[in-house]
Amino acid sequence: MLSALELYDPQIYELLTQEKARQSGSLRMIPSENYVSKAVMQATGSCLTNKYAEGYPGKRYYEGQQVTDLIETLAVERAKKIFQADHANVQSYSGSVANIAAYSALVATGDTIMGLSLTNGGHLTHGWKASFTSNVYNSVQYGVDPKTGRFDYDKIEALAKEHRPKVIISGATAYPREIDFEIFGEIAKRVGACHVSDIAHISGLVVAGIHKSPVPYADVVSTTTHKTLRGPRGGMLLCKAEHAKAIDRAVFPGLQGGPHMHTLTAIAVALAEADTPEFVQYAKQVVKNAARLAEKLMEYGFNLVTGGTDNHLMLIDLRNKGVAGKPFAKALDRARIVTNYNTVPGDPAPPFNPSGLRLGTPAITTRGMKEEQMDIIAGFFKKIVENIDNNSVIEQVGREVLLLCSQFSVPDHFIIPPENNHLAT
Ligand SMILES: *Cc1c(COP(=O)(O)O)cnc(C)c1O
Repeated sequence: MLSALELYDPQIYELLTQEKARQSGSLRMIPSENYVSKAVMQATGSCLTNKYAEGYPGKRYYEGQQVTDLIETLAVERAKKIFQADHANVQSYSGSVANIAAYSALVATGDTIMGLSLTNGGHLTHGWKASFTSNVYNSVQYGVDPKTGRFDYDKIEALAKEHRPKVIISGATAYPREIDFEIFGEIAKRVGACHVSDIAHISGLVVAGIHKSPVPYADVVSTTTHKTLRGPRGGMLLCKAEHAKAIDRAVFPGLQGGPHMHTLTAIAVALAEADTPEFVQYAKQVVKNAARLAEKLMEYGFNLVTGGTDNHLMLIDLRNKGVAGKPFAKALDRARIVTNYNTVPGDPAPPFNPSGLRLGTPAITTRGMKEEQMDIIAGFFKKIVENIDNNSVIEQVGREVLLLCSQFSVPDHFIIPPENNHLAT
C-alpha cells in the first residue's frame, strides 16, 4: 500500500527515503545530533502541528485548548522534575531563541554580555560578531587557554571585573571538558552579573547526573532539546522562581508567537524518557564511548584538544597530520562517517577552512554501539587520514562502515519499555 506521502508527493517521498537510508547507513558523529525514539518521532508528526496555542496553560489567546493545556503542563512539570528547577518554559523554537529570550528577560539592549567566543568553542548566540546578539548587546568575549584548551577561571574573572557585564554566559558548543558552573556563578555574583548557563550540548549528561547541574548556580539555564537530551528540535529554559515571569514574557509575547505544539508534545515525551534508568545508562555509555574513542585516536597519533574528553565530544587538532579539517571531514563523509570541521583554540587557519575536526558519540551510542565499536571506528579515522587522496581506500572504509551500521539498528525500532516509563501514564 502506498503511503500518503508516496502518493501525493513522490519527489519528497523519494528524498525522505534517501535521507532515512543515509541516517541508517552512516556513522553520524556530529556531536549535536542524535536519533529520537519512535515515540518522540510519533509525537512530532502528530495532529498537534495543527493547533495554535499562543499564551500559556490557562491563559491562552485562542479557544480549543482543552488538550494543549494538559500537554504543556505535563511538559513543564517533567522538565522541572528532572532538572530540579523552580520554573520551566518549554516553548522556545530553538536553543538560539532560548538564549536570546534569556538575555532579553534579564538585561536591556546596549548592556554588556560576556560569553565564550565561537572560535574557542562558544555558540553564535553567546555574542559572536556575526550574531544579532553582538548588535543589540555590547559583547565581551572570553576564550580558553591557548596552551591547555581549558578555561582559565582567573582570567575569566579578571575580564569580568574589567568589563562588568550584566550577564555572564557559561556553556559551550565545542568544549570537551566538564565546566565548573559553580565558579561561573561565583564570578557572576562578584561582579553583580546574572549567570546564564547554556547546556545545549550536555543537558542529557546533566539529567543523568554525569555532569554537575548548573541549575543551583545560574539565574537561567538554557538548553536545546535535541542534542544529548534526545528529544525533538527545540529549546527550553529553566530558571529560579524570581525570573519565572520575565522568562515567560520574554519567550511569549517578547520573541515568539504560537508555540510549536507538536514539538512541545514531543519534548514532553523525551523528558519522560530521560527520567528512566535506561536513559542514565545511555548517557553513561555516551561518555564511556567518547573516552574510549579519544584514547584510541590518541594512540593513533591524533592530537586532541585538552588531551581527551570528559563528555560526549572531542576536538581533533589536525596540524600534526598535515591535513586540514575540511578535506578530512569530506573524505570521512565519503566513507559514510559524518563529522564537522571546526576551529581549534588559537587556530591560525580561517574558520571556513580550520585546522580541527569535531566529533562525538551521542547518535552512535543510541544505536547501541559500545567500546568495541569505538576501537573499530578509531581505526577508520586512522585509515582515512593516511589515505586522504586514495579513493579506493576511502570506498573500502565506506563498505566496512556500512557493514558495521547494518549490525546496529536505528531507533525507529528503539522504544523505552513502557513499564519503566513511569511518567508516561
Ligand atoms: C546548539 C547550540 C545552540 C543553538 O541551538 P539551535 O537549536 O541550533 O538554535 C545554542 N547554544 C549552544 C551552546 C549550542 O551548542
